[in-house]
Order: sequence, then C-alpha cells, then structure tokens
Amino acid sequence: MSDSSSIAVTRFAPSPTGHLHIGGARTALFNWALARRLGGHFLLRIEDTDQLRDTGRESVLGILKGLSWLGIDWDEGPAPDLEADRDPRSVAPFYQSQRLDLYTERLNQLLEADLAYHAFETPEELTAMRDEAKREKRAFKYDGRALNIPRQERFDRAASGESCVVRFRAPNEEIVVPDNVLGDVHIAPGELDDFVIRKADGFPTYHFAVVVDDELMGVTHVVRGQEHLANTPRHVALQKALGFRTPRYAHLPLIVNPGGGKMSKRDKDKAVRKACRENNITEPPAGSCDPAEFTAWIKDKNRQLNQRDLSALAVALNVELPEIDVEDFRAAGYLPEVVANYIALLGWSPGDDIEKFDMAFLAERFDTSRIGKTGARFDYKKLAAFNNDAIAELSDESFADRWWSWCAEFDPELLASIDAGAAINDRFRMLAAATKPRCKTFRDGAIGSAFLSLSTKDIAYDEKAVAKVLMKNDGEGLDTLRAFATELESCSTWTPEAIHELVGSFATRNEIGMGKIAQPLRVAITGSTVSPPIDATLAVLGRDETLARISRCLSAHGAAA
Ligand code: GLU
Repeated sequence: MSDSSSIAVTRFAPSPTGHLHIGGARTALFNWALARRLGGHFLLRIEDTDQLRDTGRESVLGILKGLSWLGIDWDEGPAPDLEADRDPRSVAPFYQSQRLDLYTERLNQLLEADLAYHAFETPEELTAMRDEAKREKRAFKYDGRALNIPRQERFDRAASGESCVVRFRAPNEEIVVPDNVLGDVHIAPGELDDFVIRKADGFPTYHFAVVVDDELMGVTHVVRGQEHLANTPRHVALQKALGFRTPRYAHLPLIVNPGGGKMSKRDKDKAVRKACRENNITEPPAGSCDPAEFTAWIKDKNRQLNQRDLSALAVALNVELPEIDVEDFRAAGYLPEVVANYIALLGWSPGDDIEKFDMAFLAERFDTSRIGKTGARFDYKKLAAFNNDAIAELSDESFADRWWSWCAEFDPELLASIDAGAAINDRFRMLAAATKPRCKTFRDGAIGSAFLSLSTKDIAYDEKAVAKVLMKNDGEGLDTLRAFATELESCSTWTPEAIHELVGSFATRNEIGMGKIAQPLRVAITGSTVSPPIDATLAVLGRDETLARISRCLSAHGAAA
C-alpha cells in the first residue's frame, strides 16, 4: 500500500456541529496516527458549506476542544483557540466557506469542458420525479433532462440569474475506489447519477468541495467512516474529470452501541424515554422541561427532545445519559488518555494481544491494514474497567491534581465544602488518597464524596441503615456512637492517623470490631453506610462538622448527645 509515501497528508474534516462525536474522534485519531507514523502532516478542515447549520465560532471550538483534550494535535488548520490559522504549508483557508472562489474556478472548468451542466428543475419538480420512481419501485436517478435544453440557452438562463443547480455529468464507465480496508471497490458503469455539485444557493455540495480541497491541500490518505463509502465513487469520478489524483481510502467500520444499533445522540433520547415509560411519567417533573415540548415528544417516538430539555429531564428523573460525544466522557470523568486508547480499539488493534497503549505507541504502530471490516461495538464496561486500571496506576499526587481540576469545572461545591475552591489543599489531598482506590471515574469519586457538601441539617438518614446500624439490639449502635463522640470531643489532633488510633483503642477496650464504630459514624455523617475509610472521612470533614453531625444524628434518633 502507499502508506509509505514520503509526504503523506491526512485530514479530519468535521462539519461544525459543536460536538465531537465519538465516531468523529476515532476518525480524527486514526488520521492523526497515520500522519504521525508516516512522518507526514495532519490537517484540519472545517466543512461549513451547509448554510442551514450553525457555523458560529462556538460550534467549531467545541470540536477543537475535544480534539485537544484527547491529545490530538494538528499541523495545519484553525488554531485551537481560533485566534489564527496553523498554516506552515499555506494551504489555507481551512473553512470551506472561505474557499468559494477556489470551487467556482474548478466548477467553471467542468462546465466549459461540458463535464457539468446547469439544471433548472424546481424542488417540487424533483419531488414529483422522486415520487414517480417510488411508485414504480425503482431507485431515483436524475435522467439528465436538462440536457435537452440547448447548451447556450442553459448558460444564458443561468447567467440571467434563473435559479439552478449544477450537475456533474457522470461517466458511463467502471469506477474503482482504492480502499486499504475493503480492497478495491468496483462500481459498475451506469451506477452513478448526474449528482449536484453546486446548490441553488451558489454553495458547492459536500462532494465537490471535498474533492477540490483534498487535491489543493495535497491529501494523500482519506480515513473516514463507512457511511461515506457510498459517496466515494462520486469523488473518484470527479477527481478523474478534474485531472486530480485519487487518494488512498480507508473506510472505517461503524461504531455500534451495546444494543447493536448505530451509536448516536438518539441513544440519550431513548434512555430518557425508557425511564418515562418505566415510571409512568406523563407530564414533566416541575421545572424540568417545557410541558408542550414534552407532550409532543412523549406522543411521537420518532421525535427527539432538544438537548437542554433532555438534560433537565434526565436530572429530574435521575437518569444517567449514555456518553456519546467526547465532551460527555470528559464530563463523566474519564481520563483522556484512556478514552483515546479505547477508541483506537474501535475497529483497529495493534495485534500481539496488546490492548493498552499510549499515543506514542499509536503514532508508531498505527496501520490501516489492521482495520476491521465489521461493526465495532462500544463496550462501556470495558472503557470503565480501563479507566479504573489507569486511575489505580496514577500516583496519589497526580490523581489528586487531576481530580481537583475536574472538580473545579464539574463539581465546585465539593471543593468549596472543604475550602479547596481556590487551590488544592491538604484536606482535598487526603480525600483524594482515600477515594482513588474506590472510583472508576472522577465523577464516581465526586458522587462518593457528595456527603461533604451537604449542610448538616440536610443529611437524610437511610431508614434501613438506621434500623440495622443504630437501632438494632436496643439501640446498641446509638450507644456506641454516643460513647465514641465523647472520646472524639477530647481528641486534640485531627488527623487520619490520630482518628485511626482512637477507633482502634475504643474497639479494643470495648471488645468490639472496628466496623461497630465505623458504621454508626458513617450513618451519622453521610446518612448511609457508604463512605471512604472512616478515619479519612472524619479527617476531611473536620472536627466541628463531625461533632455537629453526630450530635444531630443522636438527637434525631432519640438519644441525647
Ligand atoms: N464533513 C464530513 C463529515 O462530517 C466528512 C467528510 C469526509 O471525511 O470526507 O462527515
């Protein structure tokens, strides 16, 4: 294969949707890795010729941010902060909307050579033609009827401003797509239709812009999803007509969700719909989402709720939304190096039973010949297990630093509750050391520490825990709690070590297990029987707050402190 070309150029060409979908992230990662392994260039191009879409700064920034988070850097393209382009080889601009003259020039070239033509059918006429094909149970293919209009007349009508598109005159010959994953893909003569290359609004279609850009930007390898395979014969035909080179292609297998369907943002909608069905929710919980929107959505299972209402509803119903975009994984507290590692395995493997690797390994070993042909299943459990392992391998210090940064963005209340909002402190480091062995993600750790940010009066005692841990055997647990509280009050050094000692000596003196003290303490402090190790938990919570929570618990359950 031609992976050995000396000036390999690969590209990632997202449409500015604001989000980097996990599939897009994989495409970017593979293109990046291929360019790195071949010592070439990886470039970023923004495909913003669809005027109906939002093409604002935010929608590009979201994508750049996702790439940067994963550790994917690009040699050419918009700068990560959009302040300037990265352009060592001067193939700028990188926004298709700024390249319209370049497309017009090539388009005129095709029109003059009679390899493309203006067509004047209105959208209604085209719809009627499509409907007719449907009735006759045949695939719709534009029949070239505009060519019945004399050539000069077509040019004159277009020049006079009549609304028209430009169609490519598809060659009646076999087309071969060179693909490193699927082998050569042959398309029989007559299969292609005269597809549109310039829309009525004057913008090039995706097919035309992509072909012109790949040539002008020197792209040698195109790695992209299999959903584009049906487009590629059109691109190859256009390349030939324009006298361009055909890059090597590698079409990636689809990423499927655990249920076997296409992994898409619809999965989020489905998760919330399921929760509504299971809980018989027929109107939105107060303040969660617009009632009219909700009603329309719940009645029509093909309808999708907008992102904001969906998130609000998910929070109100306590539904965990499946992660789909890179940003979702970041917010869920996965480590970027783990996400990058995991998505590299979606359709690719380095062989030799190797599963865990870093970006440097990928840059050295990535090869399109090891890409699979069939769907790659996204296994959330496996990703969580990878993340768990990676967290376990971090030093306490590094975990604390990284978790702190995550909390600063996603859980500032937790930091504020232990005075770590402005800067990392010893209390946070203590909490981090106790949390690290028991969390799969940063969010997991934050959930396990949520009791810290409760105010004392808001602690809700779990009924079962109270019955079992405090009330059983005539309030044995409550008695232990009261007795131990007195010892805690006179404890002068408030460190995990000192608290550990105190629990140990109390247990020995009273001939009980440490759990008999730790569990009542947990219920008093968190309302439940779950918390990090009790010594660290009390140490992080602080002396005054610990004693206040114990006192409240004792009085709430009928025992004076
Ligand atoms: N802009 C296209 C997309 O977002 C990518 C086109 C390509 O890779 O050729 O799917």
